[in-house]
Amino acid sequence: MSKNMESIVSLCKRRGFLFQSSEIYGGIQGFWDYGPLGVELKRNVRNAWWHDMITAHDEFLQPDGAPSTFEMCGVETSIIMHPQVWKCSGHFDLFCDQMVDCKETKKRYRFDQVRGRWVSCTYDSAERPSAEKIFVTSMSETPEEDVISRALAVFGLKRKYADKLEWHTDLISLDKLSADELPRAVAPDVQATGTFTEPREFNLMFKTIVGALGTAEDAAFLRPETAQGIFVNFKNVLDTARVKLPFGVGQIGKSFRNEITPRNFTFRSREFEQMEIEFFCHPDSSPQWYQYWRDRRMAWYKDLGLAGERLILREHDPDELSHYSTGTADVEYAFPFLPAGEYGELEGIAHRGDFDLRSHMEGKLDENSNPLTLQLDENGQPKWKGSGKDLQYFDDQTRERFTPHVIEPSAGADRATLAFICEAYTEDEAPDDKGEMQKRTVMKLHPRLAPIKAAVFPLIKKEGMPETAQQIYRDLKRAGVNVTYSQQGAIGRRYRQQDEIGTPWCITVDGDTATDNAVTVRDRDTLEQVRIPIADLTSELQNRLQA
Ligand code: ATP
Repeated sequence: MSKNMESIVSLCKRRGFLFQSSEIYGGIQGFWDYGPLGVELKRNVRNAWWHDMITAHDEFLQPDGAPSTFEMCGVETSIIMHPQVWKCSGHFDLFCDQMVDCKETKKRYRFDQVRGRWVSCTYDSAERPSAEKIFVTSMSETPEEDVISRALAVFGLKRKYADKLEWHTDLISLDKLSADELPRAVAPDVQATGTFTEPREFNLMFKTIVGALGTAEDAAFLRPETAQGIFVNFKNVLDTARVKLPFGVGQIGKSFRNEITPRNFTFRSREFEQMEIEFFCHPDSSPQWYQYWRDRRMAWYKDLGLAGERLILREHDPDELSHYSTGTADVEYAFPFLPAGEYGELEGIAHRGDFDLRSHMEGKLDENSNPLTLQLDENGQPKWKGSGKDLQYFDDQTRERFTPHVIEPSAGADRATLAFICEAYTEDEAPDDKGEMQKRTVMKLHPRLAPIKAAVFPLIKKEGMPETAQQIYRDLKRAGVNVTYSQQGAIGRRYRQQDEIGTPWCITVDGDTATDNAVTVRDRDTLEQVRIPIADLTSELQNRLQA
């Protein structure tokens, strides 16, 4: 089924999953608020990750495919850290995107996100001589169609002359053009060529001031990733958690990037949440651990419902890899806002070698893995100085001292949440109160992720049914199952309201309940209805949630 992003966004707003931040003031681009249902869904995504990766990890069992047993623990580190962290990590001078401005509209774009096609025209028009090859761009969510309309407008042609356009390429990004070609590009929303500026570097880190003095030395950054908080605490964890290599440290927390063009709903936001693991291991076994984590993370998404062909694992080509990395793979999802055949990154799993720990020990490393210790800053201090602390590992069995290698599975909680929403969104048919098939919208969320696990209804508002239903509601809440109660409207309508927000089960107290002490439990996906004794209800739901 093709999914329509507009319907998904509208459902998210209508039912209280997601709102634009500061909406009453006109909103602020790149920032989002989770509403009452969204907050539960995202919390369930985070909890599933923390449970499956950290707390439920059984270090005595060798997990499937793992080269040996290992331990997992967690940390929660600060958002603002010592500025030297970002110098040594490389973010201070390298965490940049290239941007271009349009001189006419004053709009700013990320160089690699503007896409377009080379096109000329076999028909002389007043606007433009034929055969001039120009690069027509689009920032539309459906660039294939938009670029055709734009090219027709630029050449001053009516739609019936579309066959007079001669296309020289498929869609390619603007950064593929050479400096000589850029002046022949037509920016979005204008008709003339030559309005793009040359690309410039733009650091994505948000800068802030710590303390009241506000001098240049007080400048600090909001973290653009949670990973560095783990690296700088490597020794603390090693010394206090009594862990032995190999082991992993996980963290969930907010990260901030001043994205040039935040877009596609929450996919590219300026404030977002990450779920990251740094897995420390011996250099010799690191290639196997890389394979292990790549497969384990892919399986996690599949288990929670991204099981179809929209989910892929894309191994980076060797020329895409950083100099220290022997492997990187992205878990990608075919979000409905992307053109057919394109995928958006949900998570990157990278083999990072010893780059991070060595950089924090010795100072930032260059592309040959040599520390850049000699360059001085404006105050005559070494610019890339490391902490000078020993971040090595000593293996007391083999008496070997070495810098561990790191495998980093780095996921975005908001992107995962959005993918689960998109995958779950379904339009199908279900019988109404009279048994006639009617269209319905249903969110087929995995029960672990569903914001509300069950809805309890009295069939009618009399004959003691509401009282029994309220007691069931209270008992389930007390047992930790997030349930809701509704007695308003026809039963079919109540089912539909729950289907739309992904509630897996509806429990109905009816005329028979008073005699058989049982209720009807309806399944959201199969629509099957089964009779379950009230006494078994809590354990039945708990079992289903653990399945
Ligand atoms: P992209 O290429 O899409 O900008 P990235 O490769 O820079 O992403 P990483 O630095 O690997 O992303 O960050 C790890 C994860 O954090 C990503 O896979 C994604 O899920 C999430 N993430 C990164 N940037 C954003 C953002 N601007 N908004 C929401 N999530 C993000």
